[in-house]
Amino acid sequence: MSQYDFDLFVIGGGSGGVRCARIAAGHGARVAVAEERFWGGTCVNVGCVPKKIMVHAAEYGQWAEEAAAFGWETVRGPHDWAKLAAARDAEVARLNGIYERLLGNAGVTRFDARATFIDPHTLEVGGRRVTAERIVIAVGGKPMRPEIPGAELGLLSDDLFSLKALPRRVIVAGGGYIALEFASLLRGLGAEVDLVYRQPLPLRGFDEDLREAMAEALINQGIRLHPGQEMAALERAEGGIRLTTRQGLSLVADQVKLAVGRLPNTSGLGLEKAGIETGRSGCIPVTADQATTQPHIFAIGDVTDQLNLTPVATAIGHALADTLFGKTPRRASIQNVPTAVFTSPPAAMVGLTEEAAARLGPAEIYIARFTPMRHTISRQPRRTLMKLVVAERTRRVLGAHMLGEDAAEIMQGIAVAIVAGATKEDFDRTVGIHPTAAEEFVTMRTMTRRVGG
Ligand code: FAD
Repeated sequence: MSQYDFDLFVIGGGSGGVRCARIAAGHGARVAVAEERFWGGTCVNVGCVPKKIMVHAAEYGQWAEEAAAFGWETVRGPHDWAKLAAARDAEVARLNGIYERLLGNAGVTRFDARATFIDPHTLEVGGRRVTAERIVIAVGGKPMRPEIPGAELGLLSDDLFSLKALPRRVIVAGGGYIALEFASLLRGLGAEVDLVYRQPLPLRGFDEDLREAMAEALINQGIRLHPGQEMAALERAEGGIRLTTRQGLSLVADQVKLAVGRLPNTSGLGLEKAGIETGRSGCIPVTADQATTQPHIFAIGDVTDQLNLTPVATAIGHALADTLFGKTPRRASIQNVPTAVFTSPPAAMVGLTEEAAARLGPAEIYIARFTPMRHTISRQPRRTLMKLVVAERTRRVLGAHMLGEDAAEIMQGIAVAIVAGATKEDFDRTVGIHPTAAEEFVTMRTMTRRVGG
């Protein structure tokens, strides 16, 4: 019998923590998890899930408008925010329950409490001391408030899910995917939206053609873009809240939604008592095996600030549990992770951008821009961009990028091909499904340009 209360203690019952705990228990380990706020973590409660439900709501409004062009005599009525909020919250509560039950069924001991370190093997959990042979830190992150006067007047991403009504006018500050998704869904639900961000284009780090197409799509959706702006202050003003920037922009809206980044949830965790060193902004650097500076303490998910996505946190949590307690040591690959931006229309991508590929060597770029069939009829200005990045020497498709209807659904399949190492010729000999937009990915025959090398 081990000298410790548990073989494994997981701090945080979010995407990564729940998966890691459940799989470890399945391997026969004595496992406990502490969750201080909500089972299922950010994704289920204030992230992917409630956001996607609101994105769907916004899309229905769009479809109602387009339906007339297809012969339906529909009238788009007012949107009932309270009804949407109730449906969303019921779904989140259902998923909360599933997460709790998954843990219970797997034989994991649950603590509805905050856990903090006392020493490298001891935690304080809801007023109790608990010891564990190994500990996994899966505490995720939280939205950051910028250090500007009046920042407390802004809403953070969590706050969107407790708003009682749709604000009529919203300023969204930030150019990352969360900012864009909120701007787009609020606009889709009927708000007037101004998007204020620092860079010349939104989505820093994404492919340049996609960034340009995204800016155009946001404008077409009726969002007012304010690039190249650094926030200076927020203040109460007649009619709402005023945002001013160092460049002299001044806007007033009912609400200002701040989406300028996230911070790891490590403050007050007692990491120093466990001898764990932190990195930039308090994140926990890890080895390729997820170990912290203490070999028996591991960190997974957003707290490591690598690729902050749910499937990455779960894949890594699963692999870690297999490695520690199964008979199959392995590492989850975080190469070629597909990702999406659920704007309207959405964007999705996998693999390298043109810019990154060009740094590695000569690359061929294939681009298609078109109006999908739905919108040749609906006459909505929703254009599609598709792009492949191909290594000239190996012929492998290094990256795929898309902005347009169903981009996320399409990209999941493309990601399988790219992970499997498909070449451009493999794409070319794949027969398309007609008539779809997706078939364009296997019919791009004319190179747009050659870069790199
Ligand atoms: P989390 O899910 O954040 O879980 C950490 C948990 O630890 C939390 O429940 C927290 O309460 C708990 N905790 C913290 N400290 C303690 C403590 N000391 N003791 C006990 N419990 C503690 N990802 C996607 O893949 N697709 C998307 O579409 C997507 N959309 C998003 C939209 C928004 C608005 C946000 C904010 C995020 C989104 N993400 C999305 C990111 C995704 O939510 C995260 O990558 C994922 O939740 C990370 O999982 P995690 O296990 O690392 O942390």
